[in-house]
Amino acid sequence: MQAIFDGHNDVLLRLWNRRKEGADPVADMSGGVAAGHIDLPRARAGGLVGGLCAIYIPSGGLVLDQPKADGRYATPLSKPLERAPSLDIAIEMTAIALQLERAGCWKLCRSSADIDAAMVGEKFAAVLHMEGCEAIGEDLAALEVFYAAGLRSLGPVWSRNNIFAHGVPFAYPMSPDTGPGLTDAGRALVRECNRIGILIDLSHITEKGFWDVAELSDQPLVASHSNAHALVPVARNLTDRQLDAIRESKGLVGLNFAVTMLRADGRENADTPISEMVRHIDYLVGRLGIDGVAIGSDFDGALIPREIGDASGLQNLVAGLKSAGYGDADLAKICRENWFRVLRSAWKEHPAN
Ligand SMILES: [Zn+2]
Repeated sequence: MQAIFDGHNDVLLRLWNRRKEGADPVADMSGGVAAGHIDLPRARAGGLVGGLCAIYIPSGGLVLDQPKADGRYATPLSKPLERAPSLDIAIEMTAIALQLERAGCWKLCRSSADIDAAMVGEKFAAVLHMEGCEAIGEDLAALEVFYAAGLRSLGPVWSRNNIFAHGVPFAYPMSPDTGPGLTDAGRALVRECNRIGILIDLSHITEKGFWDVAELSDQPLVASHSNAHALVPVARNLTDRQLDAIRESKGLVGLNFAVTMLRADGRENADTPISEMVRHIDYLVGRLGIDGVAIGSDFDGALIPREIGDASGLQNLVAGLKSAGYGDADLAKICRENWFRVLRSAWKEHPAN
């Protein structure tokens, strides 16, 4: 079995929603539930040893646009969010992450040493990520506090605009070049992430924003959960030029399992074979090299292929990659080592070797 460290999941969103229904997040995570994609029993069964867990503020009422007969769709960008309620939700999700740690469900990892220790102790290695920074004000005071709570990765925007940057819509087919990039506040955010050692994630940002970060940041460029635009032209996927810049920076792309980003027709259909995932991995490896490709499942945040099902089905992807010719050393890089290298770099740790 290949141990898998995954670049993006929304398990905190699911647990936060469940708590509103009266459920106990600790019981859900440790005992397992039928719904969703990640809990500890299913993580164990699939070899999922950890990953980036997103604090994500839901856009109430977002309904994806239905494709027309020719497959085209263009969901309008969600409206910008107010800061105060966003901050409340971000604190509630962070509290769940801390409660899971206190209950022994997972280890909230703030360094590579933490990830190593979690893996040795067979604890789920969770890294706290913020997907869209609506909870953070221009003075970045909240960033300081979330960092102290364990935040080690953020995307300035989700697919909506905020004070830091502009997001891409869910649309097919569409270029990711849909609007402006970083604002002045966004530039300050990127500089601060570089200074204190928080990974900057480029999934969901406009192409202009991507190039703004590429110019400004001293980190490897990372898109934690995006696929190849040349194969599936949704605005959320990355163009060849973006992939080349990621390779140049020694960064990575995490394969997103969302079927709308895997299938050539962009359709929301779970009957999407694992061969479609392998097709993207092959393309990304061709463009980025074996050191630039990783996993970014979007578990608990997207409709994924039935053949994977949930975290317990992850080794089906490994088997698919094996039959496509990937050896153990390559699989180790894709499944976890590339993420570990990039986190060390963004966190300004010196590699042991
Ligand atoms: Zn996302």
